[in-house]
Parts: sequence; C-alpha cells; structure tokens
Amino acid sequence: MSATALRGGCHCGNLVVDLVLTQPAASYAPRCCDCSFCRKHGAAWLSDARGSLRVVQRDAAAVLRYRQGSGQADCLACARCAVLVLVTCEIEGRLYAAVNARVLDGEPGFASAQSASPQRLVPDDKRSRWQQLWFADVHIEAVDPLA
Ligand SMILES: [Zn+2]
Repeated sequence: MSATALRGGCHCGNLVVDLVLTQPAASYAPRCCDCSFCRKHGAAWLSDARGSLRVVQRDAAAVLRYRQGSGQADCLACARCAVLVLVTCEIEGRLYAAVNARVLDGEPGFASAQSASPQRLVPDDKRSRWQQLWFADVHIEAVDPLA
C-alpha cells in the first residue's frame, strides 16, 4: 500500500490544499455530484476517510462559503479567482471535507469520475454518507496576509 500526496488549490493561490491519500491515485474515482450547484461548477469530489487534508487560506477574508447539501455543507470557493476548492461539513463536532479533484496540480491519474446523487438522500443519510467518505483528518489554517 503506497500513500499518495497531492497538492492543489484555487487559481490565484489564495486557497491551497495538501492531501494525503492512503492508496495510489488510480484507486480513486472522483464523484461528480449531480446537484445543480456542483453541475454548474463541473465539480468532481475526492476524499479518503483515512487520509488527511490540510487547507491554507492566505487571506481568509477572500474565501467564500456557500451553504449547500440541505443547508448542512459549506462549499468553499476563492472570492478572488472564483475557483470552487472544497466542501466541508461539521458532524458531531468534527470537521469532514472533500476536495474538488479539478483543483489538484498535475495529472494525479485518478480513475474515471463517477456520477453521484447525494441530493436523493434525506439530510441524515447525507451526513452519514459524508462521514464514511470524506476526509476526517482536516485542518484549515489562516495565514496572516500581512506576515
Ligand atoms: Zn483564488
């Protein structure tokens, strides 16, 4: 079993993501959510419940949060360059997240994206699905832009 470390972020560099996946990239199929928001962005979500995710916000004031997923999830996009980077949800006091695979650098070599339809789930089932699929080791840091 070989871990995969990937980096990515928004276009202007305000939001940076570093993720560690527990398996080779080819073992992951990003999930294209069929809700109207994700479709408009062309988002394909990637996560590993046993991996880890570190997010750096260079200017936290320039990060947009948009409530989605039955009002339970926050979609984070850069307010400067408009790239949708990740989605987070707090469940039982713990932060879970998935990354938009389109923002990752290089060509990680994931399996073909698959469609997913969480909008057909009731809110409780959405939360348990995310709890099973999303990163559970999530750290979001803000860097002082003047430092
Ligand atoms: Zn940006």
